[in-house]
Amino acid sequence: MENIIDKIVSLCKRRGFIFPDSEIYGGLANTWDFGPLGVELKNNIKKLWWQNIVIQRDDIAGLDSSIIINPKVWEASGHVSGFADPLVECKSCHTRFKFDDLMKGKYGEVSMKDGYPHCPLCGGELTEEKKFNLMFKTFLGPVEDKGHLAYLRPETAQGIFINFKQILNASRQKIPFGIAQIGKSFRNEITPGNFIFRTREFEQMELEYFVKPSESKKWYRYWQEERLNWYFNLGIKKEHLRLREHSKEELAHYALSCADIEYQFPFLNDEGWGELEGIANRGDYDLKNHQEHSGKDLSYFDEETKESYLPYVIEPSAGVERSLLAFLLDAYHEEKDKNNETRVVLKLHPQLAPIKVAVFPLLKNNPELVNLAQKIYQDLKLSLNVLVDYDEVGSIGRRYRRQDEVGTPWCLTIDHQSLEDKTVTIRDRDTMQQERIKIEEIENFLRKKLTNV
Ligand code: ATP
Repeated sequence: MENIIDKIVSLCKRRGFIFPDSEIYGGLANTWDFGPLGVELKNNIKKLWWQNIVIQRDDIAGLDSSIIINPKVWEASGHVSGFADPLVECKSCHTRFKFDDLMKGKYGEVSMKDGYPHCPLCGGELTEEKKFNLMFKTFLGPVEDKGHLAYLRPETAQGIFINFKQILNASRQKIPFGIAQIGKSFRNEITPGNFIFRTREFEQMELEYFVKPSESKKWYRYWQEERLNWYFNLGIKKEHLRLREHSKEELAHYALSCADIEYQFPFLNDEGWGELEGIANRGDYDLKNHQEHSGKDLSYFDEETKESYLPYVIEPSAGVERSLLAFLLDAYHEEKDKNNETRVVLKLHPQLAPIKVAVFPLLKNNPELVNLAQKIYQDLKLSLNVLVDYDEVGSIGRRYRRQDEVGTPWCLTIDHQSLEDKTVTIRDRDTMQQERIKIEEIENFLRKKLTNV
């Protein structure tokens, strides 16, 4: 298990899932680009979340708000004053540390003087704690002064709160109802790392679910269960996920309660538990602050009771890259085959798999086999609208292995019998079993498999 992350990083690079960014210029630390298969996997995760949260329900509406928004939003939300980590810097070697990390023992036992820690690297004296704002700053227009200062959003959630009233009016929703958004967020993290676990640019899938204050506890539990089941249904093993309720001390100032869905990553702290998604009961903190700062009424009028109130909000907030990493880790298997050779297979849920099916002609120099294989390949791509691969290079065994390694659930081989009886073999990635299937039945077979989650 120890070097599984190295294996995954190398597989991701070799097969086009994830590349180190700007590699031809020596890279940019902790920055990654998603290659041809990575972008498919990422899109599938986002699509499945969106289908589950927006499309298949009638109480949640979608949104795509701007990344750079009025900076007053971040003052109202508390991000300008509060979104900061206390940092210390070593006066000798100038390394910066998160003060919390030092005190929590991330760097092992640190020598102390008068109750204050010394540099874990060189033993030097540390500066006083200084707050460091995690928001990226930029300027709108050519003048770089305070009046033109703006921020890249550090979360997508605030875009939802500032659109709350407009969405309510446009969609005629009644409470309880939610607004969902997927998009990029930016945080000038002090200690990025662990592959794509913590980066400065990442994507979030966020839902703000507005409820009656008296019902917020019920909905808080409801969303915890819903979200856990989403991961389980897409193949994350039960023993690798847990729900961890925050203690009172840990709770962010805006949250009435908060729980993290944690995945057991093989590379983090001793036991590996790291946050995949936070689910918070934020009360009316956000709407109340925006109402105060904007001077606009953001309350909800209940037609039945004829009362106006500020709804409470339950927020399940998930990271796309962290779930992608968890899906990859859970899918990665090494197995010995009958010749004692290692088979690497990504047992990704078919709905997540970047390539859904691969088509092989048994021999590449037989035009009849190649033509039929090409026809099946082209037809499936268009009729199913999914990524299909075509491969005629090397032995069939090698071609299966190439697909196993990137998680393709099915492979179709067109052989001599196919020309006679219009059947092909379909091989299952996980069981490696092969069956014959009529060419005319392939599309329906795959369609069924790909629509049931
Ligand atoms: P952490 O404690 O790990 O910094 P957080 O509690 O600050 O995370 P939230 O603000 O709750 O994170 O954001 C919701 C989700 O967004 C997280 O659960 C995570 O999946 C994702 N996320 C947050 N920061 C990052 C990051 N720097 N890189 C990748 N994903 C992130």
